[in-house]
Amino acid sequence: MNSQEKIIVLIVAAGGGTRLGSEIPKQYIKLQGRTILAHSIAAFAGNSGISGIQVVIGKGHGKFYREAAKDFDILPPIFGGKTRQESVFKGLIKIAKYAPDKVLIHDAARPFVSAKITNAVVKKLKTAKVAVPVIVISDTVKCLKPRVKTLDKANLALAQTPQGFDFPEILAAHHKAKGKNFPDDAAVVEYSGIAVSVVPGEEKNYKITTPYDLEKAKTMLGGEIRVGSGFDIHAFGSGNHVTLCGVKIPHNRGLIGHSDADVGLHALTDALLGSIGAADIGEHFPPSDKKWKNADSAIFLRHAATLIAEKAGRINNIDVTIIAESPKISPHREKMRAKIAAILQIPLEKISVKATTTEGLGFIGRSEGVAAQAVVVVEV
Ligand code: ZN
Repeated sequence: MNSQEKIIVLIVAAGGGTRLGSEIPKQYIKLQGRTILAHSIAAFAGNSGISGIQVVIGKGHGKFYREAAKDFDILPPIFGGKTRQESVFKGLIKIAKYAPDKVLIHDAARPFVSAKITNAVVKKLKTAKVAVPVIVISDTVKCLKPRVKTLDKANLALAQTPQGFDFPEILAAHHKAKGKNFPDDAAVVEYSGIAVSVVPGEEKNYKITTPYDLEKAKTMLGGEIRVGSGFDIHAFGSGNHVTLCGVKIPHNRGLIGHSDADVGLHALTDALLGSIGAADIGEHFPPSDKKWKNADSAIFLRHAATLIAEKAGRINNIDVTIIAESPKISPHREKMRAKIAAILQIPLEKISVKATTTEGLGFIGRSEGVAAQAVVVVEV
């Protein structure tokens, strides 16, 4: 590619398809915290061979678009037409003012397009006017009408996007095909009699169309990993036991607190709340509220778990460290893990409870209180 060459990516996101059972158009459904359109934009935004990105959006989608595109420095969107072909045509007319040498036209619903495919298309355009990524067909293909007949799949392939074009050629071909309704842009240039070259596509560059496709996309991306941390401390006062990680331990003093003063569960609750940005334990259960006096801290922990579940989140693992000179924690460690597992309904092996002292240093070293810290990993 000549370094002076200007290549613009035109992303077609004008469809109003809500076939996926969602209220919002499918290109604005989120995968791992980012819309399908944003994943598609991101696939090109980092490519140094691309001069600009133009998205064609549907009427009434401005609000969705602004949110999806806010992280990217791209050309202002334009509205599409009634058909895909019309939307692309409008986009081509719009970008003509930038006088691009080439254009890559891509479906927003293919968020898994790789740099490998994009670069292969760009490379092919050095010697060809049109380059289309295709994949071979593994299943046997039947023609259904007028009666079922097996086709020779050796001659067939499935077309993907981005499809690359010499800009003046595709613009002229769209002018000529105006009023037709071709399914892709390669078909538009075929109508003008221009030869189409192909490059290898990739199976993962599929178009998200059905609810199954959407589930597959979620599995491919996995959940978003969140980390939360929490810390708590309570002072010793009069009493005959302390409650740590839900376990009552006889002791010559108690811990002072509005609830049961369970530093372990408080630190853990804060870590879980922190993982989903849901403020802290004091916000959800104000100490000023009499209702929480001597409360079982399991209530707080369960509430944090419910908030995570409401975000379709899953707790991956938990690590709690209790910092105290006394009482001795190790005899109660397994019971604490089991207690947390029971409250949160997660497997025991995902929970760690450990303890340390401060070697006699500081206020914990002087046995003035007990502290705890917790780290959690949550997949949302
Ligand atoms: Zn506390």
